[in-house]
Amino acid sequence: MEKKLVIAIDGYSSCGKSTFAKAIARELNYIYIDSGAMYRAVTLYCLRKGLIGRKSIDIDGIKNALKEIHINFIYNPDTGEYETWLNSENVESEIRNIEVSDFVSRISQVPEVRTRMVELQRQIGVFKGVVMDGRDIGTVVFPDADIKIFMTASIDVRAERRYRELRMKGQEVDYQEIKRNITERDRADETRAISPLKKADDAVILDNSEMSVEDQMRWIREIISEKKNAGRNR
Ligand code: C5P
Repeated sequence: MEKKLVIAIDGYSSCGKSTFAKAIARELNYIYIDSGAMYRAVTLYCLRKGLIGRKSIDIDGIKNALKEIHINFIYNPDTGEYETWLNSENVESEIRNIEVSDFVSRISQVPEVRTRMVELQRQIGVFKGVVMDGRDIGTVVFPDADIKIFMTASIDVRAERRYRELRMKGQEVDYQEIKRNITERDRADETRAISPLKKADDAVILDNSEMSVEDQMRWIREIISEKKNAGRNR
């Protein structure tokens, strides 16, 4: 039987991790998990319940809320994509808005939130054949992943891509606000005490500032076939 891999993709905000991860999962017929969507769904729930505000955060309330938060990825045949559901509601679009983006890095610093999300992420990975993207996948969630990639791109390229993506979805957005949000999230994610955004020692760096998705696919195909052959020859 062909060896199924766990592929971990980490990196900075808005550098195309999910586009790349989805393309890999589609090609290999693997499951794709957007771990950022899970932190975003928790953030949306906390915002709605008033558990976090500009100057306040109710840590005990958030810990208790974790029991009531159920996150699923459900296939939408109309879009051909898996979408994020929070309890019994499709929140795929709402979790990408700027308000959630502004608060998510504070929610993702709460230790109990991380413990719970990592537990759920590992359950999904047990059967292998998974591509997961995030900030701590290669370092914490799957330290034994078969392939680890650390993605980056210049800040202007990243802000431009996110700006275009949100505009395409019909959201009224301001370029400078997006750039500020990305810069701020990277700073918060890199400097947090628990599971900070960091390249795993054995991760391969991919700077895709000047690469198309097809360029990136050509690059990864070689790495995947090397891994699969190594598994066969063992
Ligand atoms: O990937 P995305 O930009 O949607 O992630 C949103 C936020 O979720 C990140 O800025 C980070 O604070 C948090 N996150 C995390 N660990 C992950 C994935 C995302 O802390 N594995």
